[in-house]
Amino acid sequence: MSSSQEQYFREEVPHNDFLWSHTRHEVFQSCLRRYYYAYYLAWGGWLDSAPAAVRELYILKRLFTRQDWVATHVSMAIAHLLRSGTRPMTPGLLAAEAGGIEARQIENMREEFLHSRSGAFRADPVHMVGLFEHVFEVPVTAADWKQTVDRLALAIRTFAGSTLAQDLFALPKERLIFIDRPLTSILNGFKVRAHPSLLILDHGQMHLYLWEAHPEVALTSLRERLAIHACLADTRNRTAVNPVTDPDLPVLATAYSPLFDESYTLEFTPTDIGNTREFIVNSADEMLFPLAKPEENDPGDGAAFEPSPSPGCAACPFHRVCPAAEKS
Ligand code: SF4
Repeated sequence: MSSSQEQYFREEVPHNDFLWSHTRHEVFQSCLRRYYYAYYLAWGGWLDSAPAAVRELYILKRLFTRQDWVATHVSMAIAHLLRSGTRPMTPGLLAAEAGGIEARQIENMREEFLHSRSGAFRADPVHMVGLFEHVFEVPVTAADWKQTVDRLALAIRTFAGSTLAQDLFALPKERLIFIDRPLTSILNGFKVRAHPSLLILDHGQMHLYLWEAHPEVALTSLRERLAIHACLADTRNRTAVNPVTDPDLPVLATAYSPLFDESYTLEFTPTDIGNTREFIVNSADEMLFPLAKPEENDPGDGAAFEPSPSPGCAACPFHRVCPAAEKS
């Protein structure tokens, strides 16, 4: 860390409070140096006063690959659909509503694409989207870009025509406890966040959903994510939804692929929820080890955050600034 960066972190930025998430856990497990760039050195890069190096790391941290980009838009589109409309909804009305949302979402994607390609997003990286492929000049054909956007159309149409959508629209709206909202809780003193796509109350049972619009998904990571979402949903909502919910009933968690109209559902019993809580707390504890002052979430000079060069470095947004990248 340069002396101007040290002064900046000491005097100008808001305090960097520790916030555990599954993404943070995965980055920590994959490469400590990447973790250090993303969660410490990029901190405060949104401020106008940020040194150029911090700003650049912040921009890199927030880049989307085109797969993540379309998955985010799919989630937003389904959230818009669920928030809108009367209930019960006929299949015809649902298709018409989805068509309007699809057109607006594609227009948003078109604007984001242009701002990313021109580099205009750099002026406001908090609100504007930068795409990994543009920043690193990854060759992507026009047909591939079209296929990316077509995936949004396919996903929203498939969801709107699915049995799942019919079931969700048949529920009274108040059973949809929340739609596309982050959940935050404190577990053993650690602040923890997860972001399920939907949480409903179904026959007295909590059921959360995750829209998974990536064509290929790592199953282990998906299982972990569902468990963490279930744990947070349980911790945050168990009391709020009592007495409707039987505390002994498991929390249901479904990953739904709107690309393939396929669901993957797991049940999490109170014992499973307890185990997941332990997993989160152990992971958060582990993240404190490399810190110079764990109680202040202060990483010190970063020397303890060793790089782990691997073939995965090519997909790391920090490979341009990481000295270890060329050894991978
Ligand atoms: S380029 Fe590789 S070694 Fe460097 S931070 Fe990224 S993943 Fe880690």
